[in-house]
Amino acid sequence: MQVEVTFPELPAGTLQIRMSRSSPGRYALHEFAKNVYDVRVTDGGGKPLIAARPNPHQWDVSGHDGTVRVTYRIFGDRVDGTYLSIDTTHAHINMPAALMWARGLERRPATVRFEPPAGATWRVATQLFPGADANTFTAPNLQYLMDSPSEFGAFALRTFSVEDSGGRKPTFRVAVHHQGSDEELAAYARDTEAIVREARNVYGEYPAFENNTYTFLADYLPWANGDGMEHRNSTVLTSSGSLRASRAGLLGTVSHEFFHSWNVERIRPQSLEPFNFEEANMSGELWLAEGFTSYYGPLIVHRAGLTDAATYARSLSGTINAVMFDPGRRIRTAEEMSRFAPFVDAATSIDPTNFSNTFISYYTWGAAIGLGLDLSLRERSDGRITLDHFMRALWREFGKSGERVPGYVEKPYGIPDLKRVLGEVSGDPAFAADFFASFIQGHEVVDYARLLGRAGFVVRPQNKGAAYVGSLSFESDGGAKLVESVPFDSPAYKAGLERHDIIVSLAGRAVRSADEFERLLREQKPGSAVPIEFERRGTRTSATIRPIEDPRIEVVPAEEAGQTLTDAQRGFRDAWLRSQSPQR
Ligand SMILES: [Zn+2]
Repeated sequence: MQVEVTFPELPAGTLQIRMSRSSPGRYALHEFAKNVYDVRVTDGGGKPLIAARPNPHQWDVSGHDGTVRVTYRIFGDRVDGTYLSIDTTHAHINMPAALMWARGLERRPATVRFEPPAGATWRVATQLFPGADANTFTAPNLQYLMDSPSEFGAFALRTFSVEDSGGRKPTFRVAVHHQGSDEELAAYARDTEAIVREARNVYGEYPAFENNTYTFLADYLPWANGDGMEHRNSTVLTSSGSLRASRAGLLGTVSHEFFHSWNVERIRPQSLEPFNFEEANMSGELWLAEGFTSYYGPLIVHRAGLTDAATYARSLSGTINAVMFDPGRRIRTAEEMSRFAPFVDAATSIDPTNFSNTFISYYTWGAAIGLGLDLSLRERSDGRITLDHFMRALWREFGKSGERVPGYVEKPYGIPDLKRVLGEVSGDPAFAADFFASFIQGHEVVDYARLLGRAGFVVRPQNKGAAYVGSLSFESDGGAKLVESVPFDSPAYKAGLERHDIIVSLAGRAVRSADEFERLLREQKPGSAVPIEFERRGTRTSATIRPIEDPRIEVVPAEEAGQTLTDAQRGFRDAWLRSQSPQR
């Protein structure tokens, strides 16, 4: 892609031009300067200027005449929410991955003009402000510009509007670049509308979207990478799945990302405001910003009538197992896991890590906390107070109040604010203090079996009586070679197994593959002492492994477990999972 940037009306002195190192909604460094080449700099009269290079991301330009014009080419071939992809079907543009900007000009408005390849009849889908013609747009400042991904291509477009109780009636645009049929697109737009309507009921109203419009930018293409990325008035949704084959997964992402237009875009942690394009952005609040969003994603899909109770319950099983039995929970709190995002959020480096032992995703742990807090609030208030009330209170105090300057949040929150608001909403500051100390800044988990029991869900063993030695990952291409760290304190760990060990026998029988190991393990009894042999870096070792009973659980509706739902359980479940529409 050819890019031309003009910086006019400059003060005298050196202009520091930058490529971003990070992108809003992503917390690792992505070093976007790496794909820039053929950089040329001139002044307003076209005279070439030499740029100094103080670091890999910066071009320092002096001796200009008040205008600096920089042109460059940039390579991009990844369709997702973070990078850039240019091909014959579209330009899929995440601004930090594509645009140079200049220090000191962050508050200036910008104009962006998209020029299609010769002969292409491409249109632009974006949250940028409409400009002088169909291919020209503006942004009020750098924060807004960088937050405005743009799909430039021949996408299909559907629009609808929905009213809220506050008298707002935003327009929703669904721009989809895909290879499916119009019927599939119509069904997808209908499901998206159902999600958009149901999400509104959590907060009672929509945010004041700039230009009164919110845009879904979806690229569902076999060569796309799976992603979803939130922005103030839009989201990028990408997947190699199709509308036909991957409906549930795609809608889950729609729901998650749309919920972000309140939670993180406007109810925003102080640690992310304003977003820093020059450094990794660290936040101790992602258990709420991402985690609670992950809790609400499938909940809203379910409330909108797009999944059944058993499917919803199954989604909870994975969340609870991931948190209950992961050794990482003893090592870092949910707040500390959130601060780990710069190392795990699409971060890449080549040295091995011990993350399978030391890290739990703040998405998953945060979703588990959201579930626990919602059910706890409902239990202690007989259903009068719910997590929706907490989110609404955060919205009123932090989200809604600060919508004056597009691209900025006037009143971001900190963890003490969250604790105080939970105390106010629950009417019990001691409960709030204890909840934070135990579950967010501590290492405990709520009693899911009891709380889910209130809603008529049964928490039971997934594999009753089955032998279990810990969650092990094997190399996929044959042999029983361990690829990940062995979970701390698991039977496998106690037997001395480690990453890269090759298991050669179990219970005196040869093991030639991961499947064979699993099959032999199934024949063992929990509590028994089983001989195991493994090879490590050329040396064979004999040891004893003592399987335990598989602790992992599943969540099922009581009626599926052969139990009768009580009226109290039915009432609790309905209040929690039914559509919250005021019209009902
Ligand atoms: Zn998210």
